[in-house]
Amino acid sequence: MRGVFHYRDGRLSAGPVALAEIAAAVGTPAFVYSADAIVARYRAMTGALAAEGLDATVCYAVKANPHLAVVSTLAREGAGADVVSEGELLRAQAAGIPGQRTVFAGVGKTEAEMAAGLEAGILQFNVESEVELRTLDRVARDKGLRAPVSLRINPDVDARTHAKITTGTSENKFGIDHAQAGAIARQAADLPGIDLTGLAVHIGSQLVDLAPYALAFEKLAQLFAELRTAGLPLQRLDLGGGIGISYRDEQPPEVADYARVAARAVRDLGVPVIFEPGRWMVGDAGVLLTRVVFVKQGVKKRFVIVDAAMNDLIRPTLYDAWHDILPLARPAPEAPSQPVDIVGPICESGDLFATDRALPPVRPGDLLAICSAGAYGATMASTYNSRLPAPEILVAGADWAVIKARPDHATLLAQESLPAWLAPEADQEEPLHAGSRAAS
Ligand SMILES: *Cc1c(COP(=O)(O)O)cnc(C)c1O
Repeated sequence: MRGVFHYRDGRLSAGPVALAEIAAAVGTPAFVYSADAIVARYRAMTGALAAEGLDATVCYAVKANPHLAVVSTLAREGAGADVVSEGELLRAQAAGIPGQRTVFAGVGKTEAEMAAGLEAGILQFNVESEVELRTLDRVARDKGLRAPVSLRINPDVDARTHAKITTGTSENKFGIDHAQAGAIARQAADLPGIDLTGLAVHIGSQLVDLAPYALAFEKLAQLFAELRTAGLPLQRLDLGGGIGISYRDEQPPEVADYARVAARAVRDLGVPVIFEPGRWMVGDAGVLLTRVVFVKQGVKKRFVIVDAAMNDLIRPTLYDAWHDILPLARPAPEAPSQPVDIVGPICESGDLFATDRALPPVRPGDLLAICSAGAYGATMASTYNSRLPAPEILVAGADWAVIKARPDHATLLAQESLPAWLAPEADQEEPLHAGSRAAS
């Protein structure tokens, strides 16, 4: 998927659209996504799964990039959704994804979220504990409904990824312990508000190795076969998401190989299979555009200070993530690269995008693209330092559109209110204890 963004006439571009053109129009920092790249990924995955003879539904993990236009792009292709909150459920619905292609995951669903899922007629809740199962049973019975449930099993497999995004070992908060699965499945089958539908697994994110997948899928398939033989009405499997992308020099699996590993483990069961990719679908399809503010020569290091910051893209700070960084104007082949730290303006040492990175010479005003920023980028952004959220742009073919504008400071300030005693018009003589007055 390198090649989504490529130099065309010396200018880094998405298809025929030069990114500098977008930066000139909307300013920086700004996220740019390629709809064509997202669609290509979706088709590659559904194609690979179909080629393995699987009856598969690809439920895009909305949390990776929840923008309505991104989810809508996938909805038009026929994708389902994997949601982890009521907000994501509403987004999936707004994007046109039917409840019957929506999976509700998450270790801490509230009763209100359970009710919302039931009302939306979702395909299944992936339930992660006995207490959640019993709560969902009660919420469903109160509504005179039955909640379709797949049990998320923790297979105790180390995904060998970053500690903050590994989820399938017995040390993690996720899933039902493999050893308890049988007992909880029997309970689920007996609860009047629960319709036990299957088993699910998700062992982590940014997996670049197929071996943990093979192990987890085989464990799940074996458990599925055992429970089905024992008379439990299991009808489908959910194999989760997590396929990695190449941020630096990782060699993530080819989707065809991933599909083959999944098929080998579960094909003989003859049931429909759900997949929940997030990062793989959108990560490479986005860049964060930023402009060089200053180049500062320190005692030991040279710093390229840019106008994007950790509030826009927190992955380097949070996960020690490596992102490729490319000048928008192709450097001359003979341009001497030198090691620089590429940092944001925020007053935190962690506000950085790269350390000791070989970069051709840059000057203030030059534009850079921070690559592979389409997943867990804008969605994890904050307004720390009262910085304005970066706008988002979607490119499709030769067209591009602003899909989220940069708000202005007045708009952000207007979201806050003062308590009555701080309001400029507050009557200074009124004693504070005279009762609380809502700020208007
Ligand atoms: C986060 C998550 C996903 C998506 O993970 P990616 O690494 O982005 O593919 C899928 N399923 C569940 C349950 C998740 O929590």
